[in-house]
Amino acid sequence: MLRDIYNRPLKGLRISVTDRCNFRCTYCMPFDEYEWVDKKEILTFEEIARLAGLFVQLGVDKIRLTGGEPLLRRDLEKLIRKLSSLSGLKDLCLTTNGSLLAEKVSALKSAGLRRINVSLDTLNPEKFARIRRWGDLAKVLEGLFTAKSYGLDPIKVNAVIERGVNDDDILDLVEFSRKNGFTIRFIEYMDVGNSNNWTSEKLVSKKEILAIINARYPVREVGRNKGSAPSVDYEFIDGQGEVGVIASVSEPFCSSCSRARLTAEGKLVTCLFSATGYDLKALLRHGATEEEIIEVISAIWRKRTDRYSDERLEAMNSARGYRAKDHKKIEMISLGG
Ligand code: SAM
Ligand code: SF4
Ligand code: SF4
Repeated sequence: MLRDIYNRPLKGLRISVTDRCNFRCTYCMPFDEYEWVDKKEILTFEEIARLAGLFVQLGVDKIRLTGGEPLLRRDLEKLIRKLSSLSGLKDLCLTTNGSLLAEKVSALKSAGLRRINVSLDTLNPEKFARIRRWGDLAKVLEGLFTAKSYGLDPIKVNAVIERGVNDDDILDLVEFSRKNGFTIRFIEYMDVGNSNNWTSEKLVSKKEILAIINARYPVREVGRNKGSAPSVDYEFIDGQGEVGVIASVSEPFCSSCSRARLTAEGKLVTCLFSATGYDLKALLRHGATEEEIIEVISAIWRKRTDRYSDERLEAMNSARGYRAKDHKKIEMISLGG
């Protein structure tokens, strides 16, 4: 099995199918305008499926489609159909802001999508508009309930928690998810990209998030799915569902990180906080053979030393401290979450 310098296998692939987005969330892409990738530089579905097939040969068994907003990519169901027929792939998932879900879920389900993650940070419409700027809460809720009516399972709700912004929405989101059979996952606010003005003061740690939940709805730890998932999961002691927390900042999980990322323009990126990626599209479009591409991916993975979040925590706990602005990264909207 392919392993990196720290003995981490390559098991997951996150594919950004577009860098475009119809939201402008303050924590991800706060600018109205951005230098978008030229359409002809975006991987075609054939190219994505070909690369995905090679990653599966290398040991990847889980693929997540993301973006930008993946449902903005026209005919996405055609890609889902191609990927869901890859033998060796055990899990195919999609992360979406939910705005176009109601109209697309039927086609996605028929093409083979079984589960979905929807981002939702508050149930308060004004606050939603402040955080997600171009988004409309009603459309997202309609998307969530339509996905439920089509039997997608599990449906996970992702909420990024930012101090002073939506830390007072945690219990509302828990109650909403418990009532409707969704699994809620809280995500610590991260310094992704270069645009969100992250500081450690804006972080609400996993410990704080759990304390708020536990005081009202006691939970017991279940652990990380397969020992390597980003989320630490907890079950409610009253048996009514589960909650997860992704503590990338306060309790980083780099030591078990087995995920690679493929940007919409075909770059292979080995960490969410990378500054650059390797251009696999150039290989594809210059006629490289499958063996050659596999060899390039393998060589990159074998040399991988990424442990950005571990290093961030070490810096935060040291006298030198950590300044997000000192580190240039690929924007999350290009890279995929
Ligand atoms: N547009 C889709 C969406 O919003 O779900 C998919 C792409 S988005 C980049 C993927 C995930 O990253 C979302 O769940 C989003 O909440 C999360 N995310 C974006 N910026 C973040 C940040 N600064 N800290 C933590 N999570 C973040
Ligand atoms: Fe928001 Fe997702 Fe768009 Fe980023 S990619 S601005 S998180 S909707
Ligand atoms: Fe993986 Fe990089 Fe995140 Fe660490 S910081 S868990 S290496 S993506």
